[in-house]
Amino acid sequence: MNITILGAGAMGSLFGGLLAEAGASVTLLDVNQQHLDAIRRDGLRLETDAFSRRITQLAACRPEEATQIPDLLMIFTKTYQIGPALTSARHLLGPDTWVLTLQNGLGNVEAISAFVSRERILVGVTTIPADYIGPGIVRSHGGGHVRMSAADPTAAPISDHCMLATVVDLLTAAGLPCSADPNVWAAIWEKVAFNAAFNALCAVTGCTVEQIELVPSGPTTALAVIAEVIAVAHAAGIPANLDRTQAMVLQSFKTHAGHQPSMLQDVLAHRRTEIDSINGAVVRAAGYQAIPVPNTAMLYTLVRLIEERQLRPADEAAASHHEELVASS
Ligand code: NAD
Repeated sequence: MNITILGAGAMGSLFGGLLAEAGASVTLLDVNQQHLDAIRRDGLRLETDAFSRRITQLAACRPEEATQIPDLLMIFTKTYQIGPALTSARHLLGPDTWVLTLQNGLGNVEAISAFVSRERILVGVTTIPADYIGPGIVRSHGGGHVRMSAADPTAAPISDHCMLATVVDLLTAAGLPCSADPNVWAAIWEKVAFNAAFNALCAVTGCTVEQIELVPSGPTTALAVIAEVIAVAHAAGIPANLDRTQAMVLQSFKTHAGHQPSMLQDVLAHRRTEIDSINGAVVRAAGYQAIPVPNTAMLYTLVRLIEERQLRPADEAAASHHEELVASS
């Protein structure tokens, strides 16, 4: 199968590298020129708990340079990069191309639907971790799982969906354990709930995961966010499981000790975060259903403020604040 990975950072490189090793024809597309150059020159170095290997059978280029129309395009940019990335890769979307998103957050299928019909989108969630170490080097410590389904609710039942079954087998054979899951949206919302609590709390406070326990109201706040997000999921008809998600939170204080969630890493590096597709998307969905989500909304505002302070030039931010004051007076 011809597979193109759009966004070959931590996750895209891990998935692309393992799929290439398993025999698929894989092209990595990215805009990080140093990473592309290193992969073309030396191959991709993949470090896991089990091995450190160099994978050389990978093509790597910028989206606009690619010409091969893939059978499967996996999108692994950050969520807010979907539009620009697919714009530059639009010429690769043939009539038979499928698109798979395993990105975190909500709204990804809708963003991809602007480029490809929903009938050709697969959507899922993964707990497999990966870190971008530097040009040409990606690390993955600890295991995980992929769960996916068709994005089109009117698609054939999971058991009859040929492309879904093919991709599930392909990932599993590559060492990325995967299953088709009719309840994938519950799993997606549960991960959104977890990230809305932990990513945002750690991003605002600078705490690693277990430091959230330093004061009793830390875990209480995390559990309150989870309850809010799961309530919004239920109102949207998604059978997300509150007990399971809250248990995941309590467990992670032990298993994720010392871990800096990606949103904290982004804040520390003055990069944009995925807050808008996590807490932001929940706040918007809660608004449609008139469900109160005060903790989720507060964290959303705080992370957005950090982003704006760090990313916007000071004079531009001041000018815009002044315009808002004038408009509201
Ligand atoms: P990353 O930042 O390491 O990778 C994103 C890549 O996309 C970067 O290499 C960037 O250069 C590239 N990119 C940006 N704009 C582009 C464009 N216009 N065209 C092509 N490439 C472009 O991020 P990541 O950690 O790999 O995460 C990717 C997604 O997977 C996110 O939604 C994240 O939440 C999700 N996720 C990550 C993990 C993890 O452990 N890293 C686990 C589960 C899910």
